[in-house]
Amino acid sequence: MDLPNTADIVIIGGGVMGASAAYHLAKRGAKNVVLLEKEEFFGAGATGRCAGGVRYQFSTEINVKLSLESLPMIERFKDEIGQDVNYRQCGYLLAATNEKDAAAFRRNVELQNRLGVPTQLLSGDEVRARVPRMRFDDALAGTFNQKDGLVDPNSVVMGYVGAAQKMGVKAVGRAGVTGIAVSGGNVKSVETASGSVATRTVLNAAGPWAGIVGGMAGVRIPILPIRRQMFTTTPLPEVAHEDFPFVIDFAQSLYFHREGEGLLIGMSNQNQKPGFDQNVDEDFELASLEAAVERMPLVEKAGRVSHWAGLYEVTPDAHPIFGGTPVGGFSVMAGFSGHGFMHGPVAGKLMAEYILDGAFQTVDVSALDLARFDEGRLIQEYNVV
Ligand SMILES: Cc1cc2nc3c(=O)[nH]c(=O)nc-3n(C[C@H](O)[C@H](O)[C@H](O)COP(=O)(O)OP(=O)(O)OC[C@H]3O[C@@H](n4cnc5c(N)ncnc54)[C@H](O)[C@@H]3O)c2cc1C
Repeated sequence: MDLPNTADIVIIGGGVMGASAAYHLAKRGAKNVVLLEKEEFFGAGATGRCAGGVRYQFSTEINVKLSLESLPMIERFKDEIGQDVNYRQCGYLLAATNEKDAAAFRRNVELQNRLGVPTQLLSGDEVRARVPRMRFDDALAGTFNQKDGLVDPNSVVMGYVGAAQKMGVKAVGRAGVTGIAVSGGNVKSVETASGSVATRTVLNAAGPWAGIVGGMAGVRIPILPIRRQMFTTTPLPEVAHEDFPFVIDFAQSLYFHREGEGLLIGMSNQNQKPGFDQNVDEDFELASLEAAVERMPLVEKAGRVSHWAGLYEVTPDAHPIFGGTPVGGFSVMAGFSGHGFMHGPVAGKLMAEYILDGAFQTVDVSALDLARFDEGRLIQEYNVV
């Protein structure tokens, strides 16, 4: 698709955020919306490399509320958009192996239950009983919510992009934005290698690259790209059943979920330095394999099928940034800090509300503005994996 010369709204970044915003803007009747993606294909950034986990289990009210809106949107996705996204409600089982995490889990379950999420608090014995093939002798407590689960990220992106295009959105791949012209404090145009697009409204949905895109307009956006990686195994019929949950060994940030007939296993490197390298760190993969075998000895007999790395888009308080910037017409929706895929549906809807109505309607996310970092209004999320 050729790049148009002008647009009413330009969205930078064709991951789940940009795709959802494009769809929701068009659904609300916005015209001349252009979605620009630097890669050939949409969803090739963090979204296409993510674990596909969706959960209600968060530690802050705002994140639980985002899930309460977003996950039902994923459940309705096929009816609304016509695309199957393979939502498997296998549940998330979080296991605590120290007192600090166990205490936090108790507070989180109270909060989730108060907001209407039926998460169960489990004893150490109940954790062991739910995953008998795993070695959780040290588990002190756990939490489980059946409606958490897994969804196919590419289907969500392609569903939104396809539906947006049908409503007139111009979605252009290989269209990396290289500059943003600002004049008199307002955005005027975006530049790409194939030309510029004049516009008065730009949405930065560039995920881990959102800080770079912000810098093009002279806006500081505190999002760091942090590499995360995972691998999948050959079949493990002993564990890979329908009812095997998404298991998280919280203290180690080590997780297991069913992937086909085998497992997907990931672990977060707490010493990972920020950077844009998306190659697998083989040494850390070995460390995560060893940790996985400790937790599930069966993994030792499995082979590796695939592995990859991607970038978390981490903010100082592990919450996203929604809304305006000091530059008129330039807004941001990014920084979901490694748990944004699941909030993509509601996030795009919220940014469509912000751009078209000037206010968030579905969930009040006004506290998640960019100014909170300068004004010291941070809200910490505990359940970061
Ligand atoms: C390994 C891993 C596992 C994860 N697991 C989960 C999980 O289980 N559940 C969950 O909810 N979340 C998970 N996440 C987080 C989730 O992937 C992200 O929060 C979410 O995908 C962010 O979406 P996005 O659209 O903001 O970013 P992206 O998907 O990265 O999209 C941004 C897009 O902007 C494009 N872009 C960048 N710069 C420019 C430019 N200058 N011009 C044009 N285009 C540009 C990029 O190419 C990219 O496609 C995981 C992430 C990783 C890396």
